[in-house]
Amino acid sequence: MYAKVIVDVPAKQTNRPFDYKVPPSLMQWVEIGSRVGVPFGSRMIQGFVVDLVADSDVESVKLKPIERVLDLYPPLNKELIELSAWMSRKYLCPEITALQAMIPGALKAKYERVVSLSDPAEAKPASGFIELPQEREIIAYVREKQSVPIETLLSRFPGEGRLIRKLIDDGILTEGQTIKDRLAKKKVLTVFPPENADALLERIGELPPQARKQKEVLQYLAAHPRPVKLTELMVEMEVNARTVKSLAEKGWIAIKEVEVFRDPYEGRSFQPSPPLDLTGEQQAVLQQILSAVEARSHQVFLLHGVTGSGKTEVYLQAIQHCLTQGREAIVLVPEISLTPQMVERFKSRFGDRVAVLHSRLSHGERYDEWRKIQMRKVSVVIGARSAVFAPFTNLGLIIIDEEHETSYKQEDSPKYHAREVAIRRALQHRAAVVLGSATPSLETYRKAAPDNAAPSETPPFRLLTMRSRVQGRPLPAVHIVDMRQELKDGNRSMFSRPLFSAIEDRLRKQEQMVLLLNRRGHSTFVMCRTCGYVVRCPHCDISLTYHLHSRTLRCHYCGYAKREAAVCPGCGSEHIRYFGTGTQRVEEELAKLFPGIRVIRMDVDTTSEKGSHEKWLTMFRNRQADVLLGTQMVAKGLDFPHVTLVGVIAADTVLHLPDFRSAEKTFQLLTQVAGRAGRHELPGEVFIQTYTPDHYSIVSAGRHDYSAFVRTELELRRQREYPPYCDLILITLSHEQAQLIVRVGESLVKRLKEQWKTLSASALYAPQRQSAYMEVYGPVASPIPRMKDRYRFQCMVKYRGNDSVIELVRRTISAFDDVVKQEKLQISVDIDPQVLM
Ligand code: ADP
Ligand code: ZN
Ligand code: ZN
Repeated sequence: MYAKVIVDVPAKQTNRPFDYKVPPSLMQWVEIGSRVGVPFGSRMIQGFVVDLVADSDVESVKLKPIERVLDLYPPLNKELIELSAWMSRKYLCPEITALQAMIPGALKAKYERVVSLSDPAEAKPASGFIELPQEREIIAYVREKQSVPIETLLSRFPGEGRLIRKLIDDGILTEGQTIKDRLAKKKVLTVFPPENADALLERIGELPPQARKQKEVLQYLAAHPRPVKLTELMVEMEVNARTVKSLAEKGWIAIKEVEVFRDPYEGRSFQPSPPLDLTGEQQAVLQQILSAVEARSHQVFLLHGVTGSGKTEVYLQAIQHCLTQGREAIVLVPEISLTPQMVERFKSRFGDRVAVLHSRLSHGERYDEWRKIQMRKVSVVIGARSAVFAPFTNLGLIIIDEEHETSYKQEDSPKYHAREVAIRRALQHRAAVVLGSATPSLETYRKAAPDNAAPSETPPFRLLTMRSRVQGRPLPAVHIVDMRQELKDGNRSMFSRPLFSAIEDRLRKQEQMVLLLNRRGHSTFVMCRTCGYVVRCPHCDISLTYHLHSRTLRCHYCGYAKREAAVCPGCGSEHIRYFGTGTQRVEEELAKLFPGIRVIRMDVDTTSEKGSHEKWLTMFRNRQADVLLGTQMVAKGLDFPHVTLVGVIAADTVLHLPDFRSAEKTFQLLTQVAGRAGRHELPGEVFIQTYTPDHYSIVSAGRHDYSAFVRTELELRRQREYPPYCDLILITLSHEQAQLIVRVGESLVKRLKEQWKTLSASALYAPQRQSAYMEVYGPVASPIPRMKDRYRFQCMVKYRGNDSVIELVRRTISAFDDVVKQEKLQISVDIDPQVLM
């Protein structure tokens, strides 16, 4: 038998499997999806078995055998292997990159240099060799260990580095590479009483009188004849390890290492929560989802429900049903919404049938949660983007909450979109997909809503709508505040008068507030008021961000930092200071205007530490603060009963980004943040401060009017030929010399156009020629024209009607492989880019 193996060499030319022999000893262990160690050149590397075949095109003598199978159970399966091939075609990434994305970090290959005996069978080294005592010792040691990491050998024989080197040069020892797991399974010492635990009582008499503690332990184990963690027993009986171990030495009990799962939620208990009685709207929606799950039909639903309409309860009950069918469910949630509160809702409904995957877990915790899925110990997983790869084998339902979130698209290779991957997986499993949002992305909405241009066609997704909040709670009243007017009336503060008095009012009533500042737009850059000089990163061509705490200016792309300038480097003026409003400035201002106000600030700076995110939210929930102030991360998914006021400091910051989705993002953000207010008994109120109060995205958000927004936005997208009316491919070229990029870029664009001409004229393409098109724009400087000392230019491909365009782009770019290699030019391709940087 032969195995086709995708090896861990991310070069383009190896995006195909290599053939290896399956030795008889490994025959029953090698499966499709196995992770194996194979020789590759002189090294040993990791690979994944993608197929098993009876014949190989390569001459058998030339094939090497698989050397090791790395896991007891294969981490992947046939379906996921096929998915990786699909991803490789769809997102133009090497297959190995897609495979790596599917497994937890702990299983990513780590290589180690090892030495072993060149000829283990030979008792004595080659003739003519003078054997020194140290040499003999080293050889004996390696013989015993069979293979020793070089570092271990050096620390075992300190000062003998040269001798070891010589043994390798003489061919006695061989140096090689091996694969090491990044992480060991966690094991704990566990005490096992004998099968007949009563016998322990008879042993008591055999102990000397002073062994009082040992006797107590025997009594305890006789009364509790179950395996118990050694540490637990020590605490319970107030004994030390020595006492227990001496019982094991007598052979009366056993102490063994037992593998355990690290549980990030260990020690936390979750109150069981029964299903709620559904509202009429929830019931109707649930019914539709259930019929699809029952019928095992692959159906994608868009669940468009206003904030607080009870989407999560619908998810929970749909999952419940899926589980009773013996099938599994995946729930994807944006990383920042994956709060303890969210986890609790799932844990309290499904107990330990739920695994949780998010990036704040340690490597080990993540690995163990993943293994619970792999070993079928759980049937539900809730997690961020990469949880879409959960190795379930009988999926019934995939839910994507807040489906419009751009974080579902991975920005690094493989540049996959979790929504598309989910739909692909569901197709293979004949499972249902539920895309939930209060503000669906335009791409999804267009697939679910009837098309005016073709009213008779059934849309590919089914639209489910929930228009009202549960228990008849009203949506909050939204006030749009014109900041230009404020300025005219002499208010130069960052708080408008209405927002100011609303804050005062809530402080008096001891109610809570959420204040949102969207920093992404213009953050705290430093500008000279005299000459307009802006301090920029010398490597990246973006303005530096001011950090009050350390009094430094920092680049958010490359980490460059410099001290705050006392005078303008341009004109020497002293009037150089930071501009724009960062969260820190708002915090200071609040403290100044409302003495004694308690503010929790949440932004990238205050939440980088593990657990800090949870800590702040818990403090706020416990009402240890009046204000939760932050960036986007306060806008999403949070549910606090005492929040009655939401303030948006500046709504337009996102609006002016060079991005065709800027209006959509503005609308989504405002709607989401407004949804944080008045979710419970107390009614809510929202203030949106803006310099463009007439913009349709702001007006519609103020009226909670998704359809008005979507109508205007779709029309504009259609006119300007943007998604969802076409597909995009963004090609970014980067190099130290701008000239080279422009030259290559221009020739790339020319070639793409020629290729398209040929393709679209070919008979193959004729049937779709009517609606199909492709346009290429650029090369133009990217929105960030230079990053880490490399210039960046981009070309944009707009196309419609055929997936073969992706293949065309791939082929055309690969024609430039030589320049790429020689000049160290970088060409990266992003299919369906979410952010046009
Ligand atoms: P969404 O996800 O649509 O914003 P949630 O699922 O968070 O809404 O629901 C909002 C609140 O309403 C939650 O506190 C939830 O427990 C509650 N809720 C949901 N469905 C019901 C129901 N049928 N009866 C009573 N309360 C409900
Ligand atoms: Zn100046
Ligand atoms: Zn920089």
